[in-house]
Amino acid sequence: MITAPAISIRNLVKRYAGNGSEPGKLALKGVSLDVPQGQIFGLLGPNGAGKSTLINILAGMVMKSEGEVSIWGFDIDHDHRNAKRAIGIVPQEIVFDPFFTPYEVLENQAGFYGVPKAQRRTEQLLADVHLSDKARAYARTLSGGMKRRLLVAKAMVHSPPVLVLDEPTAGVDVELRRQLWELVKRLNDEGVTVVLTTHYLEEAEQLCDRIAIINHGALIANKPTRELVDMAREKVVVLTLAQDMAALPTHPAFVKCRQSDPRTLEITYNKDRTNAGEVLAAVQAQGLAIIDVTTREADLEDVFVTLTSGEYTD
Ligand code: ADP
Ligand code: MG
Repeated sequence: MITAPAISIRNLVKRYAGNGSEPGKLALKGVSLDVPQGQIFGLLGPNGAGKSTLINILAGMVMKSEGEVSIWGFDIDHDHRNAKRAIGIVPQEIVFDPFFTPYEVLENQAGFYGVPKAQRRTEQLLADVHLSDKARAYARTLSGGMKRRLLVAKAMVHSPPVLVLDEPTAGVDVELRRQLWELVKRLNDEGVTVVLTTHYLEEAEQLCDRIAIINHGALIANKPTRELVDMAREKVVVLTLAQDMAALPTHPAFVKCRQSDPRTLEITYNKDRTNAGEVLAAVQAQGLAIIDVTTREADLEDVFVTLTSGEYTD
């Protein structure tokens, strides 16, 4: 049996319309990616990268400009109804009618999706997100964390095989973050494919099987989490040398060695495999005298730079 991707995106372009004085914004510049079934898939990128634009296209809330998208094998243009039924979306912004109760929010959503009364799981869903005791409270009386959980339940009302969460933990406290992670993991264990966006590498690292990074509307990485995290375990040493170097030093533990001017060397190494002392010794062993040293941790920014520089290829 061939397992089709849960979500397939090809050459997706989004150009937001400008308004007379301002030019339109090219928010997605031809993104292609597949989300495998059964995974927790992280879509990472800094603010403004285009994550919500991509999610909102999946949700049918933003019209794409070009490209193809299918969800669970259903094309969003040609098979809109089935595509919509296959996905549940937890949006970045919390919006509820403050005068509905959680029970009503879920019943209304079930009605919207045409889920027959007999097949509704309202009580079960409320229990799943630990809101049974708030079933009859007004939405406006719920805490931020309860509202987030209610949004997850709302997204699952029609039992979609794919759940998408847009920045579920932005600005939430540690306890709520833990609760949301548990909920996401439990749904995934039950077979739901999960896509979540975040701008925290650490969060994606702990939860996701695979991570895609977008920056300025372009996909710059799409790798198993392990591989990406290894890149973030890198450290950079910048060395100032006493004289111009004739050739770049080499060493098996160097991930990358770059000369920014004749007397400045930038060496990237994996801190699990070696350390700054060994790096310096290796450089000195090649006859280069060092007069100054600085080091820094590689961070997501470095991973971005490394990826965009084209020095890593898939
Ligand atoms: P992210 O979710 O990664 O922070 P967004 O998808 O929200 O990024 O935004 C991507 C880019 O598109 C940003 O430059 C943003 O200002 C712009 N943008 C988002 N929504 C709109 C809109 N409705 N109209 C015009 N520009 C928009
Ligand atoms: Mg966003």
